[in-house]
Amino acid sequence: MIKDTDVVIVGIGAAGLFCALHFPEDTKILMITKDTVDKSDSFLAQGGICMLRNEEDYEQYFEDTMKAGHYENNKESVEIMIKSSQKIVSELMGYGVEFEKDGRGFMFTREGGHSQPRILFHKDITGREITSTLLDNAIKRKNIEILEYTSMLDIICSKDNKCCGIVVRGSDGTISAVRALYTVFACGGLGGLYKHSTNFRHITGDALAIAYKHNIEVEHVDYIQIHPTTLYSEKPGRRFLISESVRGEGAVLLNKDKKRFCNELNPRDIVTNDIKKQMEKDNMPYVWLSMENIPEDEIRAHFPNILEQCLKEGYDPVRECIPVVPAQHYFMGGIKVNSDSMSSMPHLYAVGETSCNGVHGKNRLASNSLLESMVFAERAAEAVHKEMLSGTQERLSDGCFLQMAQLGAYNDIEALEEEYKQRVLSEIEKERKKYE
Ligand SMILES: Cc1cc2nc3c(=O)[nH]c(=O)nc-3n(C[C@H](O)[C@H](O)[C@H](O)COP(=O)(O)OP(=O)(O)OC[C@H]3O[C@@H](n4cnc5c(N)ncnc54)[C@H](O)[C@@H]3O)c2cc1C
Repeated sequence: MIKDTDVVIVGIGAAGLFCALHFPEDTKILMITKDTVDKSDSFLAQGGICMLRNEEDYEQYFEDTMKAGHYENNKESVEIMIKSSQKIVSELMGYGVEFEKDGRGFMFTREGGHSQPRILFHKDITGREITSTLLDNAIKRKNIEILEYTSMLDIICSKDNKCCGIVVRGSDGTISAVRALYTVFACGGLGGLYKHSTNFRHITGDALAIAYKHNIEVEHVDYIQIHPTTLYSEKPGRRFLISESVRGEGAVLLNKDKKRFCNELNPRDIVTNDIKKQMEKDNMPYVWLSMENIPEDEIRAHFPNILEQCLKEGYDPVRECIPVVPAQHYFMGGIKVNSDSMSSMPHLYAVGETSCNGVHGKNRLASNSLLESMVFAERAAEAVHKEMLSGTQERLSDGCFLQMAQLGAYNDIEALEEEYKQRVLSEIEKERKKYE
């Protein structure tokens, strides 16, 4: 079976949604997600989204991003991201997103690596506020069709190596083909490949495996961010994040004797290393995080979600320290794209955590990822639309398209998923070994 669309967007997180909403309403768009629409990492974002506060902060924001990224960032991407931040925030508010304000305007919080507060937030559920609002807007658009429990298994390439659609497994288990003029990967990161990760388990770097299979350029697959503070638990499954903004607001890390051992506001990789060393020294599977410096009413107002989750796990952060441990969190590498999110394969774009435009360098600065996802998703939509206006894209005939898709090859899904997981893990290992 063939489904026809102008653009297929694989992934319904902030990147995919922002991209979809930036196409004109006469562009036919199909969006798919492996799970339900609310199961994207974008929904989980707690801390917030960075915004350039004023021109005087430009140099410092740029420097903070570069320093966190070990100066391996693509400067052009960083500049584009920072300079677009105010526009993105005003667009988000236009869609109905609400950020915390006081009598003087926006309230800003701070996280590690930031030389000053420049992060907008909505309680400690900023991701849910942004993504659910974008989703509500997308659902209202007549040109956007959304399919849940629908997984991309592969892309389909024409003889001249252009991407002309994808192979999917639908919610009823049937395998079919989507024929699209343009394909946009917005598949998120790869935390599902790791035992301990803050990401949803189904987010497993599928787009990356598919990229390797088709010789699409990939960059920095070994640049994987470990978040210093997730709530320690012996239960299996996703790790619960204790946002860096908790430390930004005054929480401190303590060793087994309840003594401080590091600068909690250093960038993530440095704090993670300090914690790992301390755990080894103490022979403990976690360190302590104390929120005693944060007033109780602020904990309740700013971090209600974190408070609730800790209480569920049997810890009351208002009165006691909570155990925290580093876990996989974010993927700085990905499918190599230019500043318009175009991959090395014609008619294929990649946005959000799946892509690598170099903005984060070797280590992402806190709260830059939601912003980056949306800045470059909007640019992708603009670039695709421009190409659509200028080109004479012709769809391949049914017979020719199905011949390329060869749907029978996808019957053993479990074997395919395992092959994809192993491929990504082995490429990460290979890349890591190059620098040992
Ligand atoms: C706990 C947590 C807290 C965070 N806090 C912050 C924060 O405060 N600020 C910040 O800036 N960033 C934060 N981040 C990072 C940020 O949320 C993500 O980097 C960003 O939202 C990624 O958006 P995305 O749209 O690229 O991917 P996601 O939101 O992860 O969406 C990926 C989508 O792709 C779909 N998908 C994947 N593979 C397939 C497939 N094969 N077929 C079909 N669909 C597929 C998934 O189902 C999902 O819909 C946090 C992340 C986590 C996990």
